[in-house]
Amino acid sequence: MKWARSTIDGRDWNVVDFSRLHPERLRRNRRELVCVACGAPAFFRSASGTRPPTFGAHHREGCVAVAPAWSVFRYLQ
Ligand SMILES: [Zn+2]
Repeated sequence: MKWARSTIDGRDWNVVDFSRLHPERLRRNRRELVCVACGAPAFFRSASGTRPPTFGAHHREGCVAVAPAWSVFRYLQ
């Protein structure tokens, strides 16, 4: 997913912005994240090869962040 909420600063982070943080700050923050929709614990995965950076999470059932309409939901918030 492209968005996650930091439990440290309470901010919603775009994965691209997050990946550009200072490596030390990124290391401290990469597991202090939750899904912005369902609140499940989330984590950051760096870019690797052709795969872009991404946030992962074990979403609760029915979480809208993993539904196809997620981008629309995000826009409406
Ligand atoms: Zn979720």
